[in-house]
Amino acid sequence: MQTMSTRDHRAVLLAPDHVPGEFGGSYQSACLALDLDPVPGGYALYLMDMMNIRATIISTDTGPVRQAKDNAESGGDGYLLSSRLATRSIIDTRWGWPEELGGGPRCQFCRNPHPAWIYEGPAVEVLIGEPFIDFGPPPVVGSDIVGCIDWPACDTCYDLIETADFDAWRGLLDRYGDPDVPMPVQTAWREFWTSHRPPAPAPPPPWTPHRRRRSADSIAAHWDDFTAEQPVDDVVFTSDPHVPGLAGVDAALEAAHGYLLQPPLPGAVRSYPYGEGARIIRADGDGWSLVGRTDSISFILLDTAPNLTHLIGRGPTLPSLMTGLDRIAQAEPETNGQS
Ligand SMILES: [Zn+2]
Repeated sequence: MQTMSTRDHRAVLLAPDHVPGEFGGSYQSACLALDLDPVPGGYALYLMDMMNIRATIISTDTGPVRQAKDNAESGGDGYLLSSRLATRSIIDTRWGWPEELGGGPRCQFCRNPHPAWIYEGPAVEVLIGEPFIDFGPPPVVGSDIVGCIDWPACDTCYDLIETADFDAWRGLLDRYGDPDVPMPVQTAWREFWTSHRPPAPAPPPPWTPHRRRRSADSIAAHWDDFTAEQPVDDVVFTSDPHVPGLAGVDAALEAAHGYLLQPPLPGAVRSYPYGEGARIIRADGDGWSLVGRTDSISFILLDTAPNLTHLIGRGPTLPSLMTGLDRIAQAEPETNGQS
């Protein structure tokens, strides 16, 4: 794994020889996704997480992260000395996290990344609080920085909140009680418990290329769970441009076949071990991601078909495509987060 964790923060190495699996694709494409120049030395992304604020610090000094990564790979705890982060190496600070690395909505009660409910909160003066470093003007939360704010909740926390039982609430009530939580946030937190509005189902997050890459990474990482939930019918292909999703599947498969003739930039194809003799293959291109097993089915995700997963049966050409992509991935000199 390419990330090191403490309770509240993560540091991620992004470099020509190491592109996190969450991004898939090449170093160049990951830099493009992050709006960064693909400099040869790479970047260290520091993902700062507090209950009320998430932020990303981007540094060109990759030394501490590489050191922690080496330490973790040789059996150490991978502890990162964040105090070594030199201010002069910081090139940008941003609110939130990249979506591929877990940004986007989360349960405000336990940080679960899949909130299913939204509580519209009471009007509060300030939710943001004082950041620990100057990130510029704070983002507007809800309709206005002094207006109502929403509290996303996962199913588990929703159940706890709705029990209206103090014993069930006890664990939740402590969440924003840490001394480092700014007072305005603690105030907003208390207000939530006295006057929040009824919950509503959370809308699905918008479909973006970032979310596609994150979804592809999740399918590869949780293959068995994901496939167990999928219908087994094979997708119907078409080159009819009036059926954008299916036509997009054709185009994506064609682009993936193209990789066999002209290998893409390193990292665009990845191969992970799966069981005995099989591999999970992930390939990414412009607007599409392909995830599949060398001995089984595959899935295609498209930017033109939001929230849809296209199942590709074995068929006559898929086996040779997957084994060909596997050869490309394993021939690369660096692993790019593969194992
Ligand atoms: Zn939760």
